[in-house]
Amino acid sequence: MSAVTPTKANAGAPDPDGTAPASASAIFDSLDPANGDVVGTYPEHSADDVHRAVERAHEAAAWWSALSFDERGDLLTRWKGVITRRIAQLAHVVHQETGKPHADAQLEIALTVEHLSWAAGHAEKVLGRHRVNPGMMMANQAATVEYKPLGVIGVIGPWNYPVFTPMGSIGYALAAGNAVVFKPSEYTPGVGTWLADAFSEIVPDHPVFQVVTGHGETGAALAGSRVGKVAFTGSTRTGKLVMKAAAENLTPVIIEAGGKDALLVDEDADVAAAADAAVWGALSNAGQTCTGIERAYVHERVYDQFVAEVLRLAKDVRTGSDADAQIGPITMPSQLGVIQEHLSDAVARGGQALLGGADAVGDRYVQPTVLVDVPEDALAITDETFGPTLAIAKVPDMDEAVRRTNASRYGLGSSVFSKSRGAELASRIRSGMTSVNSVIAFAAIPSLPFGGVGDSGFGRIHGADGLKEFTFAKSVARQRMKPVLLLTSFTRSAKADGQLTQLLTMRHGGSSTLPKAGRRRRKKG
Ligand code: NDP
Repeated sequence: MSAVTPTKANAGAPDPDGTAPASASAIFDSLDPANGDVVGTYPEHSADDVHRAVERAHEAAAWWSALSFDERGDLLTRWKGVITRRIAQLAHVVHQETGKPHADAQLEIALTVEHLSWAAGHAEKVLGRHRVNPGMMMANQAATVEYKPLGVIGVIGPWNYPVFTPMGSIGYALAAGNAVVFKPSEYTPGVGTWLADAFSEIVPDHPVFQVVTGHGETGAALAGSRVGKVAFTGSTRTGKLVMKAAAENLTPVIIEAGGKDALLVDEDADVAAAADAAVWGALSNAGQTCTGIERAYVHERVYDQFVAEVLRLAKDVRTGSDADAQIGPITMPSQLGVIQEHLSDAVARGGQALLGGADAVGDRYVQPTVLVDVPEDALAITDETFGPTLAIAKVPDMDEAVRRTNASRYGLGSSVFSKSRGAELASRIRSGMTSVNSVIAFAAIPSLPFGGVGDSGFGRIHGADGLKEFTFAKSVARQRMKPVLLLTSFTRSAKADGQLTQLLTMRHGGSSTLPKAGRRRRKKG
């Protein structure tokens, strides 16, 4: 890749760092959820600040989109290098603002770097101009398609994976040639600011990636601003508000919302591996994972063994904020009430807590909780709990497991443990992603699109789909030679009309002439 040095030209109103200047002096604190300490103070950007940031971003987008794929790729690679070399520093900010263990923060950043690398390295191949077959009727034309950037992308992110989740939009949007204005969660403004500051070290003179900080109003202003697309990650409820605000300007949106992911265990599964995956999928990050496992449907033949193994592993998972703790506090204090409500409701309806329970909810931490016999219409089964809880249900067969999994209004991720039927069961589950014989693996594979259906939202980040999400298709048909039949002219003859009819009958008049596109090899397994 060739190197490019950003110039002062077209710089608009360059900021000292990636944080957009604030007009007023309103500020807010970011707190450590483990103890309530103030770990940073950030501007509360107003609607005017947001609109000015978006205006500056449009100027920056003109410069950024005019670079070649190689030039952008070179700058993104340098940014990736800064993030990688300072991974401990960024992990510390993540730990302070979310409470998650350092090692988990580091894992999240490592996966982000892999994605950024993939997006930068694949943008040209996926989005660059390429020829497509014009078809027999238009054989005189050369047909090409390329994918052009939308301009400025507004990214609104959550706090639970404050690097990995928004960067699934930011990295791919930048690689596709867009500028970005990012509103991080009010719980993780420091992480968003860190990322933008690091970017502005590489691109100091053009506000290609800016951060606006604040509460819901700041996000609402971004959703209603003059951006080419809004990429929202957060709850389904807020996602609807974002869509409403964006509709005012006919701004397209991506909604990456919540989930209620299930893990299915078949009778021939490796039960120990399934239990290990279920415990990590449910409890890691204190259950505050959009694709976290909240339900398990287990074949009756292996149910007892699975429950015993889950309890054996889960009882040793330790909460805290010290170096040896495996799960941290609940980042958003209001979530404690939601978790408590789900656990109380489950027990009141006949569910049993084999570990933890409603008493496991403390002032800042929730202890690992394993429930069984919870009715399917209880909150712990129907709604996103977002805590370190797992509800396990016994099923007579895998048809029932699939039926119950698909009864959810959510459809984000899922996991299947089966030696012989993994791929088959995975394809029957109505969710955007499924891991077979592992958990959440799909999120770590940059070439796989990530996103949900139903109340989990729509649109895709990651992979080729994730790059295209931040572009529009530009199609060009270039006439290479005069057509044999000139059809798009008032000079068209009656003879040409007749020839067209004959040709059409030959091509499409039969009943067994389904034209097959080149088939991809189907994979077994
Ligand atoms: P929220 O929906 O509460 O907030 C998400 C973002 O939207 C925050 O930056 C928030 O700002 C902002 N916001 C709040 N109100 C508005 C508004 N009216 N207009 C525009 N933006 C607004 O979600 P959480 O931050 O609590 O994140 C947790 C949720 O995210 C869970 O449901 C989880 O499943 C989901 N999630 C989904 C993922 C996916 O890829 N599908 C990945 C990760 C999480 P502020 O914080 O300042 O209120």
